[in-house]
Amino acid sequence: MNAHPLQDQLRRPIHDLRISVTDRCNFRCTYCMPKELFGDDYAFLPASEQLTFDEILRLTRLFVSLGVSKIRLTGGEPLLRSNLPELVAGIRAIDGVEDMGLTTNGAMLGRQAAPLYAAGLRRLNVSLDALEPELFGRMNGRGYKPGTILRHIDHAVEAGYEVKVNMVVQRGVNESEIVPMAAYFKEKNITLRFIEFMDAGNDNGWSYDRVVTKQEILERLQRSFALEALEHSYFGEVAQRYRYRDSHAQIGFITSVSESFCSSCTRARLSSDGKLYTCLFAAEGYDLRAMIRSGADDGELLTAIRNVWEQRADRYSDERTEQTAGNREKIGMSYIGG
Ligand code: SAM
Ligand code: SF4
Ligand code: SF4
Repeated sequence: MNAHPLQDQLRRPIHDLRISVTDRCNFRCTYCMPKELFGDDYAFLPASEQLTFDEILRLTRLFVSLGVSKIRLTGGEPLLRSNLPELVAGIRAIDGVEDMGLTTNGAMLGRQAAPLYAAGLRRLNVSLDALEPELFGRMNGRGYKPGTILRHIDHAVEAGYEVKVNMVVQRGVNESEIVPMAAYFKEKNITLRFIEFMDAGNDNGWSYDRVVTKQEILERLQRSFALEALEHSYFGEVAQRYRYRDSHAQIGFITSVSESFCSSCTRARLSSDGKLYTCLFAAEGYDLRAMIRSGADDGELLTAIRNVWEQRADRYSDERTEQTAGNREKIGMSYIGG
């Protein structure tokens, strides 16, 4: 334990580190990387600008020494990063990492689930917005059908993974899938989490009208299922959880828009090019890669990270209005990983 736990301006500790391992993706989800903006000529980061595994592991060790105990690997699509199991094994071996998960669109899990499991990964969040093939194909921008992802989820569960499924709900797009998705994953005893559509990045067509709130989703679900609310299991838990009265299955809600949770936000984010962000909706990150590559020692890096966290006062979702959503410059989800 640290003698002086690191806290930000709102007395929030640093507990979680979300590491984006690539800004690339094989999907073009309309709410994240719309294909009109992320076309064939889009300039993704060259490999030399991405943190190497050694750099990621070094930074992870430093974050852990400051209080981080939960790590999430994300992207872009993290399974596009070569040799990912090597990184997973490296993170697993860090003393103080109590929990590690990976968020993926699931398309490439078929080949990668086994080596990642062997490297020590145990928790997967798979993003899936619809069961209806045409609709899902439109939403992922690549015509990719859900059948393969559903098979990959089954295999991951059989292999021993704890799997959760994330569904972003958008009005006028996939509300019709709320109940079918709930029924499907209830039957499988897999936790499904409904994510309110967020104004991430600068051009994903967001407006309040297109957000289907937790309350609305819950009301729809309650017409078909008997649900009861569960208590938060730890400080900073993002999802509000419910269980079905007639099964062990659970659902969750990520209510970033209708009931913001900034006051307990303990998450730091590291982009694939080594910038430290203290909020999903930040405009600027602190360039740790530049420090590393100009020869900074661990003490200097620790001081920099400490300073960034101590100055942190972010509470974007608490303050969100239609104006901030439209006018503020923000990083994109595909860059920082959600
Ligand atoms: N590619 C991986 C995936 O899709 O799971 C990991 C990165 S993705 C950016 C992480 C999560 O952010 C996904 O669950 C995705 O659905 C969610 N996401 C992306 N854009 C979003 C938005 N505008 N509002 C809410 N969630 C969003
Ligand atoms: Fe890719 Fe994930 Fe963004 Fe979809 S949500 S475009 S899968 S990074
Ligand atoms: Fe955390 Fe920023 Fe989201 Fe608030 S808006 S919960 S500070 S990431």
